[in-house]
Amino acid sequence: MDHFLYRDGALYAEDVPISEIAAAVGTPFYVYSTATLLRHFKLFDDALDGTDHLVCYAMKAASNQAILKTLAQAGAGMDVVSGGEYLRAKAAGVPGDRIVFSGVGKTADEIRTALSGGIRQFNVESEPEMEVINAVALELGVVAPITVRVNPDVDAKTHAKIATGKSENKFGIPIARASEVYAHAASLPGLEVIGIDVHIGSQLTELEPFELAYTKVAELTEKLRAEGHNIRRLDLGGGLGIPYTRSNDAPPLPVEYGALIKKTLGHLDCEIEIEPGRLIAGNAGLMVSKVIYVKSGEGRDFLILDGAMNDLIRPAMYEAHHDIVAVQEPAPGVERQPYDIVGPVCETGDTFAKQRNMPPLKSGDLIAFRSAGAYGAVMASEYNTRPLIPEVLVNGDQFAVIRERPSFDEIINRDTIPSWL
Ligand SMILES: *Cc1c(COP(=O)(O)O)cnc(C)c1O
Repeated sequence: MDHFLYRDGALYAEDVPISEIAAAVGTPFYVYSTATLLRHFKLFDDALDGTDHLVCYAMKAASNQAILKTLAQAGAGMDVVSGGEYLRAKAAGVPGDRIVFSGVGKTADEIRTALSGGIRQFNVESEPEMEVINAVALELGVVAPITVRVNPDVDAKTHAKIATGKSENKFGIPIARASEVYAHAASLPGLEVIGIDVHIGSQLTELEPFELAYTKVAELTEKLRAEGHNIRRLDLGGGLGIPYTRSNDAPPLPVEYGALIKKTLGHLDCEIEIEPGRLIAGNAGLMVSKVIYVKSGEGRDFLILDGAMNDLIRPAMYEAHHDIVAVQEPAPGVERQPYDIVGPVCETGDTFAKQRNMPPLKSGDLIAFRSAGAYGAVMASEYNTRPLIPEVLVNGDQFAVIRERPSFDEIINRDTIPSWL
């Protein structure tokens, strides 16, 4: 459920008409709903009720500081995957002891940044990384809390580009080598081994892969404890999928996911961390765009938008489906017609949808891409010298621009010309 609903035929974000935001900030733009963000966070928090836990929002999904602050004030920690994300979380007021650092290629500089500013734990992905964290910790005179990310070799049954838990993926260490790697970690004086980490992929629509992975983590916990490690925290990653269409079977609910966690891991008396990103932000955001032209082709009509693949890359990159709706609903009984919905970028890949049934639309009409809150604005680029589009946060009847659209001057002046030209 989200808070983007129609009232008298007009699409609203909470209590604000989308058309009002469009008039104020211009199109295209992203708009997020505070109530939806908080609702999704609370679903996870409640699902783990009764267990010692922390929900660490995977901020790579949508990393605007206003979003981070909204969630942090509700009690969320953060999962970061770069030094930049770490600094952004700190800038949003998140204390270091609520920030978890994941990612397969942390540099010594990034590790130093996090160790100096305070960190809940590093989720370590390889032995060379372990050595570097150890060295930086010793240099700073601190001890770095770590988990090791294990790769449980399960099929997440999701898009190949976002599956991470098979042995052929670059993530984590093979679970079969865990004993050896944990013994290595325990021998390094700059590290304190506190737990186990696992993350098998994104947009999972079934619980079974989680169950397989978490069962292996439970077995590993007992094994490592028997080998003398004080395993007291289990970081279970993110990955629970969202419904991208209103018609399809819905993925499992956070409450079902929470019950599975309790069933597979509850007996171990560990602190549980989860790192949801997409499910918190995905359906809490829309991308709103305007029709520039309606172009009649051979046997098909194109809606050419002012939004493009550089603003929302998911359809081009993952063949992702987004429901696309007219901001002003047609009068009842008006027949829908199929359109190819495209952006103005010079690539055929700049196609959001083919033969999508929409109400009849004309130049100047607004449309909205649903489920665009996660992996939308954060993956945008300025390809074609198209400015990054603004982000807007709605809260009840208020809205605020939380990232301005840069001017062309700002973009162009970022280039510097060498002295020989
Ligand atoms: C991407 C990622 C997440 C978040 O995944 P979602 O599918 O957005 O929930 C969590 N943890 C790690 C380590 C990740 O790489």
